[in-house]
Amino acid sequence: MSYRDPLNTNTRILMGPGPSNVHPRVLKAMSTPLVGHLDPQFLEVMDDIKVMLQKTLQTKNHLTFAVSAPGSAGMETCLVNLLEPGDEALVCVNGVFGNRISDIVERCGAKVVRVDAPWGEPVDPEQVKEALRNRSPKLVAVVHAETSTGVLQPLEPLSELAHRAGALFVVDAVTSFCGTEIKMDEWQIDALYSGTQKCLSAPPGLSPVSFSERAIKVLKERKTRVQSWFLDLTMVKNYWQGAKRAYHHTAPVSAMFALREALQLVMEEGLEKRFMRHKQNHELLRDGLQALGFGFLVKPEFRLPMLNSVVLPSWLEEVEVRKRLLEAYDIEIGGGLGDLAGKIWRIGLMGESSTKNHVNMLLSALKTMIEDSPSAITKSLKHA
Ligand SMILES: *Cc1c(COP(=O)(O)O)cnc(C)c1O
Repeated sequence: MSYRDPLNTNTRILMGPGPSNVHPRVLKAMSTPLVGHLDPQFLEVMDDIKVMLQKTLQTKNHLTFAVSAPGSAGMETCLVNLLEPGDEALVCVNGVFGNRISDIVERCGAKVVRVDAPWGEPVDPEQVKEALRNRSPKLVAVVHAETSTGVLQPLEPLSELAHRAGALFVVDAVTSFCGTEIKMDEWQIDALYSGTQKCLSAPPGLSPVSFSERAIKVLKERKTRVQSWFLDLTMVKNYWQGAKRAYHHTAPVSAMFALREALQLVMEEGLEKRFMRHKQNHELLRDGLQALGFGFLVKPEFRLPMLNSVVLPSWLEEVEVRKRLLEAYDIEIGGGLGDLAGKIWRIGLMGESSTKNHVNMLLSALKTMIEDSPSAITKSLKHA
């Protein structure tokens, strides 16, 4: 393909760790003619987004909006605003994204206290309790849905421990958002960030965030300036709320149109129904894969419905199968990361990609490959 050719990518069936497939209404909203980022009509769009984010996160937090950058920027927004050099932060790590939090904490000049769990298991609250003995960190951070391993972390016990130690409770909800329950207020989460391209099924590039009054108080009491100009909440918030609505940066207008439409689709479906759909399609996939000889990395009670970590049969040439899925069937699934590379697949059933048809397409493609070309996708004995 040359730069002169028209843009021409295949229509993929997106079943990896994100992005997920996008509803045609969202694509259409993205092609809405631009308005200025301070146009009164655009400010209304921002207000609509804020209201729908509050509803989907089950929070009344005033400071709820979408950072104009992907999930990792939401992560950075939470940490750079709440941490100052010399602070201490307890970070729960059981996969790639816990590691990323820990990395950013260090870059903030704060001290990391890590509580690690094996990849594929949730972090044990008893270990967090132990680590908090005689410590009062500024915050405790944890990943709700660890996309690198497929683990769902129960949040309430950790929230209680964090608050008892006088810390803020910070949650990565990038993959859980709109795919499984999040009760921000009831679970007393102080700062939360998420993403648009996973179970919300909007295009990548925005990160919904929300901050409790307690978090805002910590922000107000900072002794040093936030080192990031772009992510400094004290300035961004004047664009998203208040009477003045001052220019801060040029908002990605088209992406915001898409976000508004995607949130509307969630509200139309209803949260409970949406969570149930994710759960049922996960069960359908699980049964089909188990019949083909695949296992699951995570214990049933901690499995994510939207991200399935499946253990591969030892005979499977996994790279070849993923290549064939993409080239012959237009199906994208994810490989394993780190130590899990070559051992697991990460199959996403997120948002618009969580349908019976997605599940059946993948299962039937796998069955066809196993039946029609077993030698091509089987490890030869000398390698086994
Ligand atoms: C995808 C993801 C992120 C990062 O989001 P980007 O949009 O890729 O920056 C962070 N945390 C978790 C749990 C994720 O799944």
